[in-house]
Amino acid sequence: DSDLSNDTQTTQTNGKMADYASLVDRTRTVFLSGKTRSLEWRKKQLKQTLLMLEECEQEIISALATDLHKCKFETVSTEIKFTEGEVIELLRHLKEWSADEKPSKAIVNILDKVEIKKEPYGIVLVIGPWNYPFQLCVVPLIGAIAAGNCVILKPSELSSATSAVLAKIIPKYLDQECIHVVVGGVSETTELLKQRFDYIFYTGSTTVGKIIGNAANKFLTPVTLELGGKSPVYVDNTADLEISVKRILWGKCINGGQTCIAPDYVLCTEEVQNKFIEKAKHILKEWYADNPKESPDFTRIINENHYQRLVKYLNNGKVAIGGDCDARERYISPTILIDVKPTDPVMQDEIFGPILPFININNAYEAINFINSRESPLVLYIFSKDRKVQDLLISQTRSGSVGVNETLMQYCVDTLPFGGVGNSGIGAYHGKYTYDTFVHKKGCLIKDFNKLGEILGSCRYPPYSDKKLSF
Ligand code: NAD
Repeated sequence: DSDLSNDTQTTQTNGKMADYASLVDRTRTVFLSGKTRSLEWRKKQLKQTLLMLEECEQEIISALATDLHKCKFETVSTEIKFTEGEVIELLRHLKEWSADEKPSKAIVNILDKVEIKKEPYGIVLVIGPWNYPFQLCVVPLIGAIAAGNCVILKPSELSSATSAVLAKIIPKYLDQECIHVVVGGVSETTELLKQRFDYIFYTGSTTVGKIIGNAANKFLTPVTLELGGKSPVYVDNTADLEISVKRILWGKCINGGQTCIAPDYVLCTEEVQNKFIEKAKHILKEWYADNPKESPDFTRIINENHYQRLVKYLNNGKVAIGGDCDARERYISPTILIDVKPTDPVMQDEIFGPILPFININNAYEAINFINSRESPLVLYIFSKDRKVQDLLISQTRSGSVGVNETLMQYCVDTLPFGGVGNSGIGAYHGKYTYDTFVHKKGCLIKDFNKLGEILGSCRYPPYSDKKLSF
């Protein structure tokens, strides 16, 4: 074990192609030995993950405070507890989900066994982003393990404190022969992607998602791509505005707006917009007092590049609330922009920061046209009491998922698949969908040499005749 651990260290520091080739080869040999297939091994890894979450909680909280100024409440609820919930769900259902399925069969197969076996793919590469750098690495990791795969995990270089913690604690708690952490940035990931993997699970931007998709394509490796996009919020005058404003602002402010499913922009009438802004002023004051910068609960922007990118958006339209920033701390206050044009830069790419632009529309039909004229978002949020309006927006638009009168919480319903569509991603996970993502469902027809079966099936043999076709 210690030898392997040293090798992993070498891979981390050098990032050479030869190291990655040898790492993948070595991992494949272990996979082929069958070690990861036993339920006992898989359960043990999941239980060890729970122990890791418990014993390393403080270390994880500190790393996220370093990377993102993320407060304890957000780290525990959105990173640690969420991951714990997914592990518990996998442990609870592992036996049931991994059992062979026996689908119904036609009369011609009455004497046969018809089964679906759940087969691990082999070596899974998990590539994580920096915004929820723990959860978005560890949930796919444990899903792949639960399904009996070996895993190579590559966390984001931008959240370097969390990556360092993952590289330290994962080998300590999980099987070092089967699970590896590779630390590195673009050049390391580019080298890593030259290797042949059996599945790639990527979370990050759409632009890089296409690079990953191309690299996977070379080997016909199946992928899950959990990407981003501009998730619109439609608000009409039937909505309970007090609750709507709270839920929308919370979705935008948590993690400083650096959430893939954050509400990106609001579509509403000018009348609703004006009322929204009045309420938003009070609510933000209630949450963060007069100056959100002083609040311990408000996250900072991950790095200088992203900070500079976001600050430029503050010149779009007119600032109705906020607009404060501080380069030294990479701080941007919760900001609402009005008089924004659909052609403004803030309305082109995913914002991924605490800035909420408003676009005025007159009704739900205009909102639908606006949404459909753009790439499919990860989520569509609808705030309305009118069932017909809810149904209209759900049925006439395309998005990964939908939240009605709520933001973000659809992510936590583990019986719902989470994923994008079109530019916002391929595939989905959470709960059973996580398990299913990492298994190949192998259809098996198992016959014996029963004489009756042979007689019944003999009409398939030549010489053919029209009469035989009627069977
Ligand atoms: P990113 O795509 O820049 O980076 C993600 C990972 O890809 C990192 O590990 C990085 O090292 C690697 N990477 C970056 N450039 C690469 C390249 N040229 N070749 C190979 N690998 C490369 O994304 P990010 O900035 O970390 O995350 C933000 C984006 O992720 C947003 O668009 C957000 O919406 C999306 N996101 C989606 C989800 C989801 O579940 N759908 C969750 C979180 C974030």
